[in-house]
Amino acid sequence: MSRRDAILAEMGLAPIWRLRGKEVSKEQQVSKEKAWIELKQAVPACTACGLHKTRRQTVLGVGDERADWLLVGEAPGAEEDRLGEPFVGQAGRLLDNMLAAIRLKRGENVYIANVLKCRPPGNRNPEPGEVAKCTPHLLKQIELIQPKLIVAMGRFAAQTLLNSDASIASLRGRLHQYAGVPLIVTYHPAYLLRSLPDKAKAWADLVFARKTMAGLQKSGPGPDVV
Ligand code: URA
Repeated sequence: MSRRDAILAEMGLAPIWRLRGKEVSKEQQVSKEKAWIELKQAVPACTACGLHKTRRQTVLGVGDERADWLLVGEAPGAEEDRLGEPFVGQAGRLLDNMLAAIRLKRGENVYIANVLKCRPPGNRNPEPGEVAKCTPHLLKQIELIQPKLIVAMGRFAAQTLLNSDASIASLRGRLHQYAGVPLIVTYHPAYLLRSLPDKAKAWADLVFARKTMAGLQKSGPGPDVV
């Protein structure tokens, strides 16, 4: 124990671990690590909805478990189900390029997850009952990661997280909130592969997200969260 930690301990103050502006005590860090282990065991064992019968494996998420950025997509596809990692197909390559355009990288201060942790067969849309059963896993991830900003990618993630049936067009460009965390909406990379004109709009969303994050890193969430 360093002299500084010894003095703090003597004063009854636990050592503070400074993690990118997120201060946690050693006890909190240990309990977070335990909670991650529990989550990483609970999700592969989950049989809460019928998707466990058809999945090859669950896809919890990937990246920095203390990231400021949390990107949320819809559900694993065939490649993700095979490899156990979100966004590994063609849409994933576009996502990596989009991240690079705002100087971000998968795994470095970025965590990527989906609303659903299991692949819906034939890539059909997730059903409301499946979302309801899977949401506690995502909420746990948010609680543990404590991201500063969530980026909801695509109509399904946006509408689900915001409990809204509004279009992406009307949800973009504004700061929302999910589970107490500021949230920005953008297009899904798979949609952008099919709709090149909307790539410019997605770029505007990323610039907005980058600017928002800069403000959050300085001062915490602003007043115009809706
Ligand atoms: N689409 C998603 O929404 N998530 C993935 O992980 C892959 C494709």
